[in-house]
Amino acid sequence: IEARLQRVERLESLGQLAGGVAHDFNNLLAVILNYAAFIVEDAAGTPMAADAEQIARAARRGSDLTHQLLAFARREVIRPRPLDVSTVVTEVTQMLRRSIGEHIALTATTAPLPPVMADPGQLEQVLVNLAVNARDAMPSGGHLTIDTAVVDADQDHPAVLSGLEPGCYVRIRVSDTGTGMPRDVIAKAFDPFFTTKPSGQGTGLGLATVYGIVTQAGGTVQIYSEPGFGTTITILLPITDAAVPEDRPAPAPADLSGH
Ligand code: ADP
Repeated sequence: IEARLQRVERLESLGQLAGGVAHDFNNLLAVILNYAAFIVEDAAGTPMAADAEQIARAARRGSDLTHQLLAFARREVIRPRPLDVSTVVTEVTQMLRRSIGEHIALTATTAPLPPVMADPGQLEQVLVNLAVNARDAMPSGGHLTIDTAVVDADQDHPAVLSGLEPGCYVRIRVSDTGTGMPRDVIAKAFDPFFTTKPSGQGTGLGLATVYGIVTQAGGTVQIYSEPGFGTTITILLPITDAAVPEDRPAPAPADLSGH
C-alpha cells in the first residue's frame, strides 16, 4: 500500500510539473507556428519552401504532444457517481467499432452490473486508452475482447488482494492477441512517459492515466502478457451500495487519435 501511495503521489507531482512545462511550451510553439506559417507563405515557389514546411510540421507535432501532456496534467472536475460499467462499455464499444479498423475483430460481452463509484468520462478514457494500445499491438490484425463480470477478490483474484479490501468487485478485462509485452516492459508500463513506440507515436501517458484513474476510484489494474500471444489488462473496481441514478447524462464522446 505504501508503494501504491508513493506511486500516486509521484504521478501527481509529475503531472503538475509536466502541465506547467507543457503550458509554457505551448505558448512558445504558438509563436513558432505563427511565424512559420508566414515563412511558408513567403517562401512558396522558392528552394526554401520545403525547409519552411519542415519547421511548421515539427512545430505542429510539438503542439500535439503538449496538448496531450496538458490533458494528462489537467485537474479535471471529476464527478464520481454510482455507475453501471456495462453502459459505458456498450457506448465505448459502439465508438470503437466505427474507429478501430476493419483488421481488428472486436468482441464485447457485458450485462447489467452492480454499481461502482466512478466518473463516466474517466472510465471511458480508461477503455479508450486500453483499446488504443491493443490496436497498436496488432498492426496486422487480431482480436480485441472486452468483458465484464462480478468477482470475489478473495476467491477469484488472490494475487491482487494485496491492498484491496476483501469483497466483491466489478472486473473489466481488455484482451488483445497482439505482440505482448516482455517482462521489462511490463515493469515500466505504468510509468509516465515510458513508451516503446516510435517518437511522435507514443507519449507513454496512456497506462499512467489508466493507473491514476483506477487507483483513485479505489480499484486495481493488472497486466498479464505473453510476448507473441497477447495482453490482458484486468481492472477491479469496488462495488458501491448507492443506486445508479435514472437520468445519467451520457459521457462526452472520445476519439481514437490519442490518449
Ligand atoms: P504509449 O501507448 O503512448 O506508448 P502507454 O503508457 O499506454 O503509452 O503504454 C506504454 C507501453 O506499454 C507501450 O509503449 C507498449 O510498449 C506497452 N503496451 C501497452 N499496452 C500494450 C498492449 N496491449 N500490447 C503490447 N504492449 C503494450
